[in-house]
Amino acid sequence: MNNRLDSITIVGGGTAGWLIALFLVTTLNRGDNKSNVKVTVIESPKIPTIGVGEATVTGMYRFLKQMNIDEAEFIRRSDATFKCSGRFVGWNLDKNGNPITFVNPFNTGGMVSGIESAYHFHKYGREAGARSYADNTLPTEAVVENARGPRLMDSKDYEAVIPYTYHLNAGTFSQFLRDIAIERGVEHIQDDMLDVELDEQGFVSALQLEQGGRYPVKFVFDCTGFRSLILQKALGEPFIPYDKHLLVDRAVPIMIPHQNPLKIKPCTNSTALSAGWAWRVPLFHRAGTGYVFSSKFVSDDQAIDEMLAHLGDEAPKDFEPRVIPMRVGRVRRPWVKNCIAAGLSAGFVEPLEATAIYTIEMTARWFLTYFPDKEINASFVNRFNEIMDRQYKDILNFIVMNYYTSNRTDPFWLAARNEIEVPDRLRENLELWKHTLPSAMDTDDTFLFQHWDYLYILLGKGYFKGRHFPSESVLSRRDWKRHSRRVAEAKAQLLARLPNHYELLLNIRDGGSTRPEVAHLQRSAPQGSARPASSQGMR
Ligand SMILES: Cc1cc2nc3c(=O)[nH]c(=O)nc-3n(C[C@H](O)[C@H](O)[C@H](O)COP(=O)(O)OP(=O)(O)OC[C@H]3O[C@@H](n4cnc5c(N)ncnc54)[C@H](O)[C@@H]3O)c2cc1C
Repeated sequence: MNNRLDSITIVGGGTAGWLIALFLVTTLNRGDNKSNVKVTVIESPKIPTIGVGEATVTGMYRFLKQMNIDEAEFIRRSDATFKCSGRFVGWNLDKNGNPITFVNPFNTGGMVSGIESAYHFHKYGREAGARSYADNTLPTEAVVENARGPRLMDSKDYEAVIPYTYHLNAGTFSQFLRDIAIERGVEHIQDDMLDVELDEQGFVSALQLEQGGRYPVKFVFDCTGFRSLILQKALGEPFIPYDKHLLVDRAVPIMIPHQNPLKIKPCTNSTALSAGWAWRVPLFHRAGTGYVFSSKFVSDDQAIDEMLAHLGDEAPKDFEPRVIPMRVGRVRRPWVKNCIAAGLSAGFVEPLEATAIYTIEMTARWFLTYFPDKEINASFVNRFNEIMDRQYKDILNFIVMNYYTSNRTDPFWLAARNEIEVPDRLRENLELWKHTLPSAMDTDDTFLFQHWDYLYILLGKGYFKGRHFPSESVLSRRDWKRHSRRVAEAKAQLLARLPNHYELLLNIRDGGSTRPEVAHLQRSAPQGSARPASSQGMR
């Protein structure tokens, strides 16, 4: 008997629904097996997508490449810009109360004479004119601050000189994914799901559609956004709120024009405000900005006023505020019976590190790793849920760390330090890091955040100042100076070659760069790996 799962239904047509659909139709219908898996997306014509979500992490470049997507076409259709780092402003203040600015690049600062460069930086400080640890060890900060693109004018698709990912327009990006998915065979039904029918074992057997009536399903992805209509509502899977760890619960997005496109930095800016932080995500035609805040500390009106003041001259004159409530937390198990929740219906750990689209991608990848037969193997479900659990913890630890290690004294920031519950692993690590710097053994490289991410943030904040680490006794200042000089030389040479970020984008959009054959699927990273095969050390 053919036990192969041959049909998958996705409910929801936001970034989650279409990204999963494209991934499944592309990966499941290749190879020797000729019996294709039918992939269907059911999308409400009435309920809009959330319409925010514009920054990504480096997995996005690998995803597009593996999906055989023309990068220039993606950049044009999604209004994309490059992102080489996160850039943090004012999360900590210096001894004079001035905001500290630092970046978190997508790469390790590396070793000096076999010892983590961070120890040298901590002991000897900045060298060769560098402005920070990141700047002392990598070219990324200089590229960002000088508004350079991460590759040369004649680089090929996906060829990075500096590791990068993208900023993208959430609305046009999901339409782009939709168009390719449909072209590759995904069936698209525009209808509203009214009800979910369960069989006697509690599996989803059919969906009740407003126009189409009863629609039988074999396996279903719940991509219905914060509503989580199938996993949470119909199957009753509990939601675990993160409000004891994270205080922000609302966001107000504001779009603004670029004042000078030639100055678009290839980074996401996150600026601390009184009760949260403001994002600034540059797209090609405009910038997306917004304030993520805690309603316990400011009202919507106060948040809007504070955000407009933060934007200053750039604040729009006529502006219809839209405040988005954020349900921060995650479902206990994203895979239950024959349903997986992906995107906002599975969880959302606030936008600080732009991890939501990445989590959607990993949901698709790990589903493929544990691709079930019609009879769903319980050990697949358990392992998948365990991995997702570890992934959420990885993200939560990192995001909480950003708030918990701030030295700001506004009531919100004091509460983020003194009134929240620090997740266990983060607490253990922060205790350990009183005596040693973060190392690869302290984080799990199956997941997104690496020890170097902690190093960039914590060194950037000045968190380790005044501490002495026993392992520093073996360091050599001469080695550090020599290393720093080499980095500075390489950086200067690179800056002389890399084009302006905006001009690079113009060139790509105009088809000016060399357009090679895009990579073949079989050359891509192994399924299940969270890291790009071709870019060791990149996040
Ligand atoms: C303020 C904010 C900032 C964010 N920033 C980032 C970021 O920088 N980076 C990042 O990665 N992520 C970010 N995110 C998260 C990101 O927006 C989402 O993860 C992403 O857009 C996926 O959303 P979704 O597809 O799960 O849900 P949605 O976009 O809400 O889509 C839900 C879909 O379900 C459909 N639907 C609902 N009910 C029914 C029904 N009854 N029948 C049929 N269809 C139905 C809707 O029509 C819609 O198509 C941010 C989120 C917020 C709130």
